[in-house]
Amino acid sequence: MRMPGGCRARKQITEGNGLMSQGNSTLMAPEPQNPRDDPDPHTSAWFDRLHTSNPKQAMFTKQIVTRAGRLDVCTVCGDHASTEVRLSDTPYLRLRLCRDCQLIQQTVLGLRISNV
Ligand SMILES: [Zn+2]
Repeated sequence: MRMPGGCRARKQITEGNGLMSQGNSTLMAPEPQNPRDDPDPHTSAWFDRLHTSNPKQAMFTKQIVTRAGRLDVCTVCGDHASTEVRLSDTPYLRLRLCRDCQLIQQTVLGLRISNV
């Protein structure tokens, strides 16, 4: 019996990068004047903002969104079933996360997630 190959690749993507919480670079990101002023996830303005704090993640997510061909996918893995959230380590930026990636952010990385 063969295991489907797609699962392993996805696991590496979601667990291998530490994605939104890499290093302390996010601490230097500018806080928005008004938290509601942050750009919609995966728009050009959103990528510009992410690029200033985490260029690797910006490049990675750009590839995911381009491959998916739509903006409403998970920021981390590209799943279509995702919701808009805010992570405790990137309060200046809304993200889209699927349920699996939300669990990883909470349980593995210890981040708080709030729905927006
Ligand atoms: Zn995901």
